[in-house]
Amino acid sequence: MTQTGTPAESPSSSDTGPSAGSSAGSSAGSSAGSSVPPTEFDSLDPRSGTVVGSYPVQDAAEVNAAVARAAVAAEWWAALGFAGRRKRLGEWRKLLVKRIDQLAEVVTAETGKPLDDARLELVLAVDHLAWAARNAQRVLGRRKVGAGLLMSNQSATLAYPPFGVVGVIGPWNYPVFTPMGSIAYALAAGNAVVFKPSEFTPGVGHALAETFAEVISEQPVLQVVTGFGETGAALCRSGVGKLAFTGSTATGKRVMAACSENLTPVLIECGGKDPLIVDADADLDAAADAAVWGGMSNAGQTCVGVERVYVVEPVADEFLRRVVARAHAVRAGGEATADFGPMTMPAQIDVVAGQLRDALDRGAHALVGGTASVRAPYIEPVVLTDVPEDSTAITQETFGPLLTVNRVTDTEDAITRANATAYGLGASVFSAKRGEEIAARLRCGMVAVNGVITFAGVPALPFGGVGDSGFGRIHGEDGLREFARAQAVTRQRFAPPISVMTFTRGARSMRRLVSLVRTVHGR
Ligand code: NDP
Repeated sequence: MTQTGTPAESPSSSDTGPSAGSSAGSSAGSSAGSSVPPTEFDSLDPRSGTVVGSYPVQDAAEVNAAVARAAVAAEWWAALGFAGRRKRLGEWRKLLVKRIDQLAEVVTAETGKPLDDARLELVLAVDHLAWAARNAQRVLGRRKVGAGLLMSNQSATLAYPPFGVVGVIGPWNYPVFTPMGSIAYALAAGNAVVFKPSEFTPGVGHALAETFAEVISEQPVLQVVTGFGETGAALCRSGVGKLAFTGSTATGKRVMAACSENLTPVLIECGGKDPLIVDADADLDAAADAAVWGGMSNAGQTCVGVERVYVVEPVADEFLRRVVARAHAVRAGGEATADFGPMTMPAQIDVVAGQLRDALDRGAHALVGGTASVRAPYIEPVVLTDVPEDSTAITQETFGPLLTVNRVTDTEDAITRANATAYGLGASVFSAKRGEEIAARLRCGMVAVNGVITFAGVPALPFGGVGDSGFGRIHGEDGLREFARAQAVTRQRFAPPISVMTFTRGARSMRRLVSLVRTVHGR
């Protein structure tokens, strides 16, 4: 049973799951403008517009009730300890693997992405879940640290206990992989989670919580609340111990503002404008393949997707020839054989079309596709070159299958342009000899050298950005610590040889201490 907050008209928590075929509520995103707020909304298949399921629009009272239940569940979950949680998370992992095809179908139904893309994000999420569960004790468990010379009479230990309840707000583009970067790590750290999925993918959120509840049924350790932005805002104000948000920069700022009311700490994972740099000695086939897949897969709706390519002049013609050939072979569609699916969020189609028009008006050249490539709900691959650096296709997140490829004089020029954005999420560098050297000079959170997005599949590596891409990290040791609070403990082992933290200390003690510090630190 899914442990959700239940709306007044829903008789049981399981009724918050999908009622396939229902059209009782508003369509996703249509809450604005109606005088009576909807109590239900439909999630739609973006390929056909058919209703996939109906879900309640949960209000602040229901969100608060879910968080209150989670607070009780959190105590039970924390008391299981690392070993107990590892075992239970292992059971969930195995169930997710067993259900991979059914879960992928839910992802495909709500996002329109090809089934194999849905399977891929599930595979990656499972791998992260395994890593988080396996490593939580090593990273977060109590450990000794050196007490230092001045406190050598103390035993010093450090542990990372959980916050209690963590709120997770997720986007629709990778509705399993992205929120699981927070959910899996928060759970492994010992927190209960209340998850608000995107209004476009509530069914995926429910499917995750339902599989979890199948193997961990004693307490509602992972709950889902559904609705629009207001439901997410209510979660921000609900008094959770921490709020992990993944979504757009604009919403991230609203989330921070709402969380500031209770001084709720936040993790903010926002959008990107990721560059791919092609050096003169790069493997051009591999670089072109990475640019096209990194830019077009999932219809370009990837926070760490390639949006800007900078190729050095000596190899630009050869590289462009390869990019064009590959992009021509890529096809958007709703069938199983399509390379990528529709634009999941209808409003994004206008954003991509607007950036395309703006770039062409300012003198960019279309090498693949053009304005006719936009045929909602699909956008066929578009490759632009000579794109002015101040056009919106370069300065703003596109989130569509539109790739810009600009020539640069050398890698210095490429680095300067790559860094000339308010975002700083990921990047790729193709270079035989200088990949890591170039990577070190990029202002972003993750870099793939001679690859693309590979860092997201390495569970031990932290994932997150700087600037408008947000702050804080999911994945890896940093991702585990993100969902825990450091707790320092000192225990006196024997009386201090020089006792200065008392009103009874004499001047002699202070003289001895200062003399000691002069010896140790003064030279
Ligand atoms: P949005 O910012 O529109 O929404 C993200 C989530 O926030 C949704 O669940 C949304 O609910 C919710 N929300 C909306 N308004 C509020 C509010 N006022 N308070 C609290 N929550 C709110 O992003 P998208 O879903 O469109 O996702 C795409 C964005 O996510 C892109 O910018 C992409 O780059 C970024 N992203 C970043 C990743 C990263 O790890 N850095 C990974 C994946 C995506 P609802 O849908 O119901 O409106």
